[in-house]
Amino acid sequence: MLGTGDPNQTIAGLGVAFLLLAGLWRFVGWVREAPQKPDPWDAEFERRLEAPETLEVCCLCSTPQGPGAWFCKHCGSAVGPYNNLMPYVHIFSEGEVFRNGVTGRFRNRPFIFIGYVLITLGINPIFAPIYWFFLLFNLKHPQNEQESAEDQDVQQ
Ligand SMILES: [Zn+2]
Repeated sequence: MLGTGDPNQTIAGLGVAFLLLAGLWRFVGWVREAPQKPDPWDAEFERRLEAPETLEVCCLCSTPQGPGAWFCKHCGSAVGPYNNLMPYVHIFSEGEVFRNGVTGRFRNRPFIFIGYVLITLGINPIFAPIYWFFLLFNLKHPQNEQESAEDQDVQQ
Protein backbone atom coordinates (compact mmCIF):
# COMPACT_ATOMS: atom_id res chain seq x y z
CA MET A 1 0.00 0.00 0.00
CA LEU A 2 2.76 2.41 0.90
CA GLY A 3 5.07 1.36 -1.91
CA THR A 4 2.68 2.04 -4.80
CA GLY A 5 3.91 5.55 -5.50
CA ASP A 6 0.41 7.04 -5.42
CA PRO A 7 0.46 9.85 -2.82
CA ASN A 8 -3.26 9.41 -2.06
CA GLN A 9 -2.76 5.78 -1.10
CA THR A 10 0.28 6.69 0.97
CA ILE A 11 -1.70 9.31 2.89
CA ALA A 12 -4.61 6.86 3.32
CA GLY A 13 -2.24 4.20 4.62
CA LEU A 14 -0.69 6.61 7.08
CA GLY A 15 -4.16 7.71 8.21
CA VAL A 16 -5.27 4.14 8.80
CA ALA A 17 -2.04 3.41 10.70
CA PHE A 18 -2.59 6.52 12.83
CA LEU A 19 -6.17 5.48 13.60
CA LEU A 20 -5.03 1.98 14.58
CA LEU A 21 -2.35 3.39 16.87
CA ALA A 22 -4.82 5.83 18.42
CA GLY A 23 -7.28 2.98 19.00
CA LEU A 24 -4.55 0.86 20.55
CA TRP A 25 -3.53 3.78 22.79
CA ARG A 26 -7.13 4.25 23.94
CA PHE A 27 -7.50 0.51 24.60
CA VAL A 28 -4.34 0.40 26.71
CA GLY A 29 -5.55 3.43 28.65
CA TRP A 30 -8.98 1.84 29.17
CA VAL A 31 -7.40 -1.35 30.52
CA ARG A 32 -5.03 0.55 32.82
CA GLU A 33 -7.82 2.72 34.24
CA ALA A 34 -10.23 -0.17 34.82
CA PRO A 35 -11.23 -0.48 38.48
CA GLN A 36 -9.59 -3.33 40.33
CA LYS A 37 -11.91 -5.82 41.93
CA PRO A 38 -11.24 -6.65 45.57
CA ASP A 39 -9.63 -9.99 46.36
CA PRO A 40 -12.45 -12.39 47.33
CA TRP A 41 -10.18 -14.46 49.57
CA ASP A 42 -8.56 -13.34 52.77
CA ALA A 43 -4.83 -13.80 53.45
CA GLU A 44 -5.37 -16.87 55.66
CA PHE A 45 -7.26 -18.71 52.90
CA GLU A 46 -4.59 -17.87 50.34
CA ARG A 47 -1.81 -19.02 52.70
CA ARG A 48 -3.60 -22.35 53.28
CA LEU A 49 -4.25 -22.73 49.53
CA GLU A 50 -0.57 -22.36 48.65
CA ALA A 51 0.76 -24.48 51.53
CA PRO A 52 2.74 -27.52 50.30
CA GLU A 53 0.63 -29.94 52.37
CA THR A 54 -2.59 -28.82 50.67
CA LEU A 55 -4.02 -31.56 48.45
CA GLU A 56 -5.36 -30.87 44.98
CA VAL A 57 -9.03 -31.63 44.43
CA CYS A 58 -10.95 -32.96 41.46
CA CYS A 59 -12.50 -30.15 39.40
CA LEU A 60 -15.74 -32.13 38.99
CA CYS A 61 -16.42 -33.77 42.35
CA SER A 62 -13.99 -31.95 44.73
CA THR A 63 -12.54 -35.23 45.96
CA PRO A 64 -9.01 -34.70 47.35
CA GLN A 65 -6.35 -36.16 45.08
CA GLY A 66 -3.04 -37.56 46.20
CA PRO A 67 0.26 -36.47 44.67
CA GLY A 68 0.87 -37.96 41.26
CA ALA A 69 -2.77 -38.77 40.57
CA TRP A 70 -3.74 -38.72 36.91
CA PHE A 71 -7.43 -39.51 37.20
CA CYS A 72 -9.96 -39.04 39.99
CA LYS A 73 -10.72 -42.31 41.74
CA HIS A 74 -14.26 -41.16 42.47
CA CYS A 75 -15.51 -39.86 39.11
CA GLY A 76 -12.73 -40.74 36.63
CA SER A 77 -12.07 -37.15 35.58
CA ALA A 78 -8.57 -36.19 34.44
CA VAL A 79 -6.87 -34.39 37.35
CA GLY A 80 -3.17 -34.69 36.56
CA PRO A 81 -1.27 -31.49 35.82
CA TYR A 82 0.08 -32.72 32.47
CA ASN A 83 -2.53 -35.24 31.35
CA ASN A 84 -3.27 -33.41 28.14
CA LEU A 85 0.41 -33.16 27.21
CA MET A 86 1.48 -36.75 27.83
CA PRO A 87 1.37 -38.80 24.61
CA TYR A 88 -0.31 -41.85 26.10
CA VAL A 89 -2.41 -40.36 28.91
CA HIS A 90 -3.99 -37.62 26.81
CA ILE A 91 -5.95 -40.32 24.94
CA PHE A 92 -7.87 -41.00 28.15
CA SER A 93 -8.55 -37.30 28.63
CA GLU A 94 -9.94 -37.06 25.11
CA GLY A 95 -11.99 -40.18 25.74
CA GLU A 96 -13.44 -38.55 28.84
CA VAL A 97 -14.49 -35.52 26.80
CA PHE A 98 -16.20 -37.65 24.15
CA ARG A 99 -17.79 -39.87 26.80
CA ASN A 100 -19.18 -36.76 28.47
CA GLY A 101 -20.86 -35.87 25.19
CA VAL A 102 -22.96 -39.03 25.24
CA THR A 103 -23.47 -39.41 29.01
CA GLY A 104 -24.87 -35.99 29.85
CA ARG A 105 -21.94 -34.46 31.70
CA PHE A 106 -21.46 -31.32 29.62
CA ARG A 107 -23.16 -27.96 29.38
CA ASN A 108 -25.87 -27.91 26.75
CA ARG A 109 -24.68 -24.93 24.74
CA PRO A 110 -24.78 -24.54 20.94
CA PHE A 111 -21.06 -23.72 20.76
CA ILE A 112 -20.15 -26.91 22.64
CA PHE A 113 -22.49 -28.98 20.49
CA ILE A 114 -20.95 -27.58 17.29
CA GLY A 115 -17.51 -28.33 18.72
CA TYR A 116 -18.45 -31.94 19.35
CA VAL A 117 -19.81 -32.28 15.81
CA LEU A 118 -16.77 -30.73 14.14
CA ILE A 119 -14.19 -32.58 16.23
CA THR A 120 -15.80 -35.98 15.72
CA LEU A 121 -16.16 -35.23 12.02
CA GLY A 122 -12.46 -34.42 11.85
CA ILE A 123 -11.38 -37.49 13.80
CA ASN A 124 -13.47 -40.12 12.09
CA PRO A 125 -16.00 -39.00 9.46
CA ILE A 126 -17.28 -42.56 8.92
CA PHE A 127 -18.37 -43.24 12.50
CA ALA A 128 -19.15 -39.62 13.42
CA PRO A 129 -22.88 -39.92 12.55
CA ILE A 130 -23.17 -42.75 15.09
CA TYR A 131 -21.62 -40.51 17.73
CA TRP A 132 -23.94 -37.66 16.67
CA PHE A 133 -26.94 -39.95 17.14
CA PHE A 134 -25.97 -40.64 20.75
CA LEU A 135 -25.04 -36.98 21.25
CA LEU A 136 -28.48 -35.84 20.06
CA PHE A 137 -30.13 -38.58 22.10
CA ASN A 138 -28.22 -37.34 25.13
CA LEU A 139 -29.41 -33.77 24.53
CA LYS A 140 -33.03 -34.97 24.63
CA HIS A 141 -32.40 -36.98 27.80
CA PRO A 142 -34.22 -35.60 30.87
CA GLN A 143 -31.12 -35.85 33.08
CA ASN A 144 -29.30 -33.43 30.79
CA GLU A 145 -32.21 -30.97 30.96
CA GLN A 146 -32.08 -31.11 34.73
CA GLU A 147 -28.35 -30.33 34.73
CA SER A 148 -28.94 -27.49 32.28
CA ALA A 149 -31.56 -26.07 34.61
CA GLU A 150 -29.05 -26.31 37.47
CA ASP A 151 -26.49 -24.49 35.31
CA GLN A 152 -29.05 -21.76 34.65
CA ASP A 153 -29.66 -21.44 38.39
CA VAL A 154 -25.93 -21.18 39.10
CA GLN A 155 -25.44 -18.47 36.46
CA GLN A 156 -28.26 -16.30 37.85
ZN1 LIG B 1 -13.71 -36.45 40.65
